Amino acid sequence: GKVLVTGANGYIAVWVVKTLLEQGYSVRGTVRSESKATHLRETFKSYGDKLEIVIVEDITKEGAFDEAVKGVDAIEHTASPFHFRAVEPDELIIPAVQGTTGILKSAQKYGTSVKRVVITSSCAAVLTPTTEPRVFSEANWNEASIQEVKEKGRDAAGPAKYRASKTLAEKAAWEFYEQNKANLPWDLVVLNPPFVFGPVIHAVDAPENLNESVRDYYYNVVKGKLDNESSYVDVRDLAVAHALALTKAEVANERIIVSAGPWKWQDFVIVAHKWDSKLPAGNTSYDPAKAVHLIRYSPDKERRLLGIKFRSLEETTKDTLEDFKARGWL
Ligand code: NDP
Repeated sequence: GKVLVTGANGYIAVWVVKTLLEQGYSVRGTVRSESKATHLRETFKSYGDKLEIVIVEDITKEGAFDEAVKGVDAIEHTASPFHFRAVEPDELIIPAVQGTTGILKSAQKYGTSVKRVVITSSCAAVLTPTTEPRVFSEANWNEASIQEVKEKGRDAAGPAKYRASKTLAEKAAWEFYEQNKANLPWDLVVLNPPFVFGPVIHAVDAPENLNESVRDYYYNVVKGKLDNESSYVDVRDLAVAHALALTKAEVANERIIVSAGPWKWQDFVIVAHKWDSKLPAGNTSYDPAKAVHLIRYSPDKERRLLGIKFRSLEETTKDTLEDFKARGWL
């Protein structure tokens, strides 16, 4: 089969493309400009015409994906801005929401061979900032960030603007699906990963230009910043989740949290410092066994529906550091 991957040059997307090609799929990737296609073509040149790259300049334009969806069997929609530096919330919200509804509308009109649409949402659309430890599941929605952005506009916190964009985009996807499902030849799957870490295979020239999650990882683990906590999934495991989500019957019309577990930066720092003692030791009085995680995600649904064997944070860290080292970043 042939799979359309939007934002194919992104950190996660290149791993998704790689995984799909390795599994025998043909891939059509969308990027915003010709210059963003070069690295992809180079990386996967051994696959010949099994990889096709098309340009979708502006995903917010009506009908932007009309051509791209034609003749594909499934869609993986990953394109969406992920950074915490937006001034206006709409810088994130408009491409997130309109990109998502846009691809669904195009798939409705012209995706006559499409059987499934997979959307890369986020735990950002699940969590609510909390001061007491809480376990979140797929039943939870991040209304708080939407509210914060409504009340504070450009003065909302950077993460709140991003989280609002992901929550609104995912809500828009389910709303579209609910309203149109009687006439759709495809079903919808939403994957909700927490922070995604692991080696980088997309085009990136320097640590400061990394995608948001790996840049955070670099500055915290390699440079010892240590300023927050979350949960993680290795990018390679998330790519496997995207591939599984195409074929498993049971995942139809489900949102699925894809998380390997919670961390504090010090958990990675311990592994990194053991790997190379020149890297920061961080907070040496930290005891992982006593760590309190304010936000945890229920693994139940993922285990039941996908059952991925997740890489440990040791493995993710070692492979990421090897990658940084090979790039001369350590
Ligand atoms: P990247 O920044 O590496 O990739 C983002 C992709 O989206 C790129 O292809 C980018 O294109 C495209 N994109 C961004 N803004 C726009 C826009 N305004 N119009 C069109 N395309 C745009 O990030 P990731 O790979 O990490 O993110 C991919 C997806 O995964 C996103 O939906 C993100 O929200 C989600 N996600 C990521 C997590 C993480 O920790 N990395 C965690 C949870 C979810 P270009 O290169 O041209 O800017």
